[in-house]
Amino acid sequence: MTANRRFLLARRPHGDPVPQDFSLAEAPVPTPQPGGFVVRNHFASLDPAQRGWMDDAPSYMPPIPLGDPVRATTVGVVHASDNPDFAPGDWVMGLNGLEDYSQVAPGGFTSKIDISGVDSPSRFLSAMGAVGLTAYFGLLDIGQPKPGETLLVSGAAGAVGSAVGQIGKIMGCRTIGIAGGADKCRRLVADYGFDVAIDYKDAGGNAKPVDTLSAEIAEAAPDGADIVFENVGGAVLDAELMNLAMRARIILCGLISEYNSPEKLGARNLWQVLVKRATMTGFLIADHVPRFGEGGAQMAQWMAQGKIRVDEDIQQGLENAYPAFMRLFSGANTGKLVLQIA
Ligand code: NDP
Repeated sequence: MTANRRFLLARRPHGDPVPQDFSLAEAPVPTPQPGGFVVRNHFASLDPAQRGWMDDAPSYMPPIPLGDPVRATTVGVVHASDNPDFAPGDWVMGLNGLEDYSQVAPGGFTSKIDISGVDSPSRFLSAMGAVGLTAYFGLLDIGQPKPGETLLVSGAAGAVGSAVGQIGKIMGCRTIGIAGGADKCRRLVADYGFDVAIDYKDAGGNAKPVDTLSAEIAEAAPDGADIVFENVGGAVLDAELMNLAMRARIILCGLISEYNSPEKLGARNLWQVLVKRATMTGFLIADHVPRFGEGGAQMAQWMAQGKIRVDEDIQQGLENAYPAFMRLFSGANTGKLVLQIA
């Protein structure tokens, strides 16, 4: 290839991203900077977090500059290198962009990966990447699950949520998953081993009122949830808050229902945290990078033993980056959402 196609952030989305917020441009294939290298991206992770990086708001990372490619974790192959530690042909994973080729500066986040033991390099963006490890460290470190406890998971049919439920089962918890739609709820039980599935949508596909959802959670967990793994926020979180066990641990991992909302509504039932002497702890996978080896090895072992299943939803082509990304917000994705670039 002589051109580098790049999926650029053209302007900051207001509410739901629209196609005009992005542009697909071509640039020459880069050459390595002194001490750096260039990666040919094969797979890119499409994550809810990318929506937050598009906003000009305080966060754990600077906003994506306008005119830059949308930031993304990718796996790919070193194309050209001026760094003795990275040779052309090496497989690597790192924080790059939605583009054919990424320039990696010396000392960046990119690390080598060994793809010999996996069926697809995309596994490093799902089970053995940030998603699987978010489930692993979030649940085990913050949730501290114990056998017999009740674990309530929102976004339960998604990449993080489905892994959380399965790890919870390995730890001996009773697992309740919340997801949207009958098919996803069927998969919660059949594919991911949840004990109970709760549909947060009604037959018409609209979100149920907080009271209705809260009553359904209460029926499934009469003694309340000891652990809540929160991926969704908004009304779902409000319903969960009404169903906490004493000294419950809430892992605040994500709030996807609020990412496209210009006015962040926030949780209205936070008083239940006080009533139940619960804790709510923010979780960020970036804090756990030094322990990725440990978590990745455990996830790989559980997968090899058939104890964990992590599905991938692989969409094709940079030119489809926008509709592919939006699958996260319509709930169309059926597993870890990945864009195949090469
Ligand atoms: P998923 O695979 O779970 O895909 C997103 C899912 O969210 C959709 O399929 C949809 O499922 C659900 N969803 C979307 N919009 C809404 C809405 N308005 N109300 C309720 N549910 C909605 O994505 P990930 O597993 O990658 O991410 C899950 C969560 O984890 C996100 O909040 C993300 O930000 C967070 N995360 C946090 C990390 C951290 O370090 N803190 C790291 C990685 C992820 P459904 O059809 O059931 O509605």
